[in-house]
Amino acid sequence: MLNLVDTHCHLNSEELEKDLADILQRAIAQNVTRIMVVGADIDSSIKAVDLSKHFASSGLYAAVGVHPHDSSSIPGGIPEVLISLSHEPCVRAIGETGLDYHYDLSSRSQQRDSMAWHIDLAKRAGKPLIIHIREAFDDAIDILVSEKAEECGGIIHCFSGSWDDAVKVLDLGFYISFAGPVTYPRNKDLREIACRVPMEKLLCETDSPYLAPQPKRGKMNEPSYVVYTFQFIAQLRDMDLENFVDSVWNNSCRVFKWGGE
Ligand SMILES: [Zn+2]
Ligand SMILES: [Zn+2]
Repeated sequence: MLNLVDTHCHLNSEELEKDLADILQRAIAQNVTRIMVVGADIDSSIKAVDLSKHFASSGLYAAVGVHPHDSSSIPGGIPEVLISLSHEPCVRAIGETGLDYHYDLSSRSQQRDSMAWHIDLAKRAGKPLIIHIREAFDDAIDILVSEKAEECGGIIHCFSGSWDDAVKVLDLGFYISFAGPVTYPRNKDLREIACRVPMEKLLCETDSPYLAPQPKRGKMNEPSYVVYTFQFIAQLRDMDLENFVDSVWNNSCRVFKWGGE
């Protein structure tokens, strides 16, 4: 049986939460058996942990952290509550954190400080990072290097960089995760990267409720739609869907340590 995994979504968002039972049922119908629910601020991190406890049997796990958009809301280093959440067994990653210079919703220096303390938190917790980078690869890679993020490793989620950027994060041991945009016709460069990333470093995600893959574009995204990204990249790489799904599954087990539990 195929075991699909959505390594990044926001089931803790208002949009998806109100429809959760149906969304989880559709995920199971597509064999999506592991779903990483990612925090974007303190409240949504707490919610991610609550959801993953409540829906453990649906394969939900949590990541806790503060999105770069919101780094200005937490100006003073690692919040106590994230330290305690980071030790929860259902918490398998720290994030999402990173740099977003496209929207600049928090000042760049606040984003950089926040990214640095997330790396510290991940190392303390012994858990991988989930990193968001938009139009900020040079600075983000500098921080990953200077803060020794290779000690905890992690994922560059919804990858949008160049092949050179990919090589740099791969050298640090990071995984690269592709979301809906790889399926959009204009993203030719991204498709080339999805072909070149070593199979043992590649992951798939929805980043739902955002960025639905091409066949569902414009709709609200949800974990079951990860199947389109799986099919698309398997075809790009000229791989059997089963082999591709198996490899991504194994990668997710390695990074999130969720095995066959
Ligand atoms: Zn993100
Ligand atoms: Zn996200």
